[in-house]
Amino acid sequence: MAPDTAVDPPNAAEGAPAQELPSRPAKQPKEKAAKEKPAKGAKKEGLELPGLPEFIQHRLDLFHKIKARNDAEIAAKPREEITITLGNGKEEKGTSWETTPGSIARGISKSLFERTVIALVDGELWDLTRPLEKSCKLELLDFEHKEAKKVFWHSSAHVLGEACERRFGCYLCNGPPTEDPPGFYYDMANMDGRVVAEEDKKALETISNSIIKEKQPFERLEMTKDELLEMFRYSKYKEYFINQRVPDGTKSTVYRCGPLIDLCRGPHVPHTGNIKAFSVLKVSRVSQLKYRQDRDLGLTADKNSAAYWLGNSDNESVQRISGISFPDKKALEEYKTFLAEAAKRNHRKIGQDQKLFFFDEVSPGSTFWLPHGTRIYNTLHTLMQEQYRKRGFQEVMSPNMYKSDLWKTSGHWGHYAENMFTFEVEKETFGLKPMNCPGHCKIFSHSDVTYKDLPWRMADFGVLHRNEFSGALSGLTRVRRFQQDDAHIFCTVDQIRQEIEGCFDFLYAVYGLFGFTFKLKLSTRPEKFIGDVAIWDMAEDKLRQALDNFVEKINSKWEENPGDGAFYGPKIDITVYDALRREFQCGTIQLDFNLPRRFKLRYVAGKDEKLPEAAADDPDPLPQGYGRPVMIHRAVLGSFERMIGILTEHFAGKWPFWLSPRQILVVPVMPNLNDYAKEVQSIFNDKGLFIDVDLGSNTLQKKIRTGQLEQYNFIFVVGAEEEKSRTVNIRNRDDQSTQAKGDLVPLQEALDKLLKLKEERRIENRL
Ligand SMILES: [Zn+2]
Ligand SMILES: [Zn+2]
Repeated sequence: MAPDTAVDPPNAAEGAPAQELPSRPAKQPKEKAAKEKPAKGAKKEGLELPGLPEFIQHRLDLFHKIKARNDAEIAAKPREEITITLGNGKEEKGTSWETTPGSIARGISKSLFERTVIALVDGELWDLTRPLEKSCKLELLDFEHKEAKKVFWHSSAHVLGEACERRFGCYLCNGPPTEDPPGFYYDMANMDGRVVAEEDKKALETISNSIIKEKQPFERLEMTKDELLEMFRYSKYKEYFINQRVPDGTKSTVYRCGPLIDLCRGPHVPHTGNIKAFSVLKVSRVSQLKYRQDRDLGLTADKNSAAYWLGNSDNESVQRISGISFPDKKALEEYKTFLAEAAKRNHRKIGQDQKLFFFDEVSPGSTFWLPHGTRIYNTLHTLMQEQYRKRGFQEVMSPNMYKSDLWKTSGHWGHYAENMFTFEVEKETFGLKPMNCPGHCKIFSHSDVTYKDLPWRMADFGVLHRNEFSGALSGLTRVRRFQQDDAHIFCTVDQIRQEIEGCFDFLYAVYGLFGFTFKLKLSTRPEKFIGDVAIWDMAEDKLRQALDNFVEKINSKWEENPGDGAFYGPKIDITVYDALRREFQCGTIQLDFNLPRRFKLRYVAGKDEKLPEAAADDPDPLPQGYGRPVMIHRAVLGSFERMIGILTEHFAGKWPFWLSPRQILVVPVMPNLNDYAKEVQSIFNDKGLFIDVDLGSNTLQKKIRTGQLEQYNFIFVVGAEEEKSRTVNIRNRDDQSTQAKGDLVPLQEALDKLLKLKEERRIENRL
């Protein structure tokens, strides 16, 4: 992510569109509104600064001057009849430099006009109020559209920015829409040591709502680079963006709403009043801004260097205020309910409550797994090992540290070194592995492989380390030390389809156990790639066939992301949806033509095997009779750490029996039943179930209550009657009707039923 006022891709979020757009740009409500007439009584209550800072006035003066010139230029443009072709093929007539997308929408229908957030003119995002310049294709996007959401939240960031300037007189840095969490933020500098407090949130919301009420239009203005530098001379942040983004001798744009004029390429909603529901959510301190690309298995094509704010890690602290907005109030209320539910499910909180794991300053980003957390970890591990046996994967173990030579061969040294922990041993540089692939290539090349050995499905639970920036670490979702259910499939080109179908089946089986739904996307050959076009085409075709086949089986769909593959092979993105319908990327299926070449991997081909022609750029042409394997990087769970974080929130800490670290609690009704309780414990424990017994001095009711809070799936209450009949009384966590004394269940029957529940890995907590 580059620091810019431009946009980042936001995530899908809920929200019904309903808005009102003016047919032509309204006038800015009351020139210098903030100066003379802030929101009612605002100054009195200390909501805003008593007067606007000098830099704001300077900006406005310059804006007026250039705007006058600009308006004259536009007025002088030739008015010609133009044809506007709509998405459905229909054509509308208009006048160049006069007709706007907004007026076209209004002409079609009021409801369409009200629904529309932004226009797409010949594929370019275009303000609804910006005149069309020539005949064009026009699409109208509503809030449900991904790009429209970005524009909507981006526009909302301006509102927040204006409120911040008016309250603090601060300098705005970067204010993009965001995907995760959905919404937007604005980074602020020059706060004179003031820390944004909780009460500022309310104040900013009040000012923002007054800005929204004023329906300030977003006014677009083109300016030269020199004019931009003059306008923003007060801020080294904006100066930085201008120099980064605007080549000498070219123009860029600013947008004005109210007293705020911001360097921005736009576009925006027509006016601030389109933002019907607005909320300031969070304030955080960003002492060092460092942006990094998310990583996948294998090499990332885009080497995104660690970009410190203004290239300086010791830069002054910047404060980030985030918010959310919607085109209607109901959507905001729903979103707030969602946030409250998500907060309840927060895995860090549940991890602490259930004593699953913790973090400590002695090793940031590396999890201390407590006994109960380790149980979950191991259960997932066992699940994968079972699946591996069924599906013909073979487990290997490989080193954790390798000399830099290996990383040079794999290409990590050039592309990925900054994400690795490196150190000296006996005057040689080593790196801790961030992924298993290079080690697996070593295993392959060591093994004199023939076609009969393929496909070789090589699995490894090895410990991986990635040098995540300490400020980016976050619970289990972003860690430095983790393990994956990582595997590499080495196969022939002919085997790609069958192997990919096997991967899908694997995903389906495992995600089904968690109750996840998921979506598949194929990312194909990017502009820059290695290898042979024919092999790419063939591989992509096989992936398409495999996808078609699979989605038909599960009655689903897949999408294509043309040109979005890695430089070394096409990939399949797997998006998982949890119980709150949040999206995650866990699994990976990535074809790789690169590493096998770099490691000069080859196998003895079958006699009649039709081998693909060697790529022209292959650094290691194969001798006759040898084939080069294709490598498939794949993971289902991805990082165990991250997956456990996701599962904790997905289940809200109410683990399904098979995955639960606390399956059964035995509670004796009186101390003289302690022996029987212990005997029950030992019977179930011996069969591999996690069973505890509460022999403490609390009352029966208190013990049961504690067991419930700790989310034991079942609580066995044992009294004299149970002891005599060698039975238990079972309370089911998820079944209210079992919370009073019920039937006596013989021990063997209870054991059989629970073992079955565990073996079947059912989500439902039912015997
Ligand atoms: Zn903007
Ligand atoms: Zn890999």
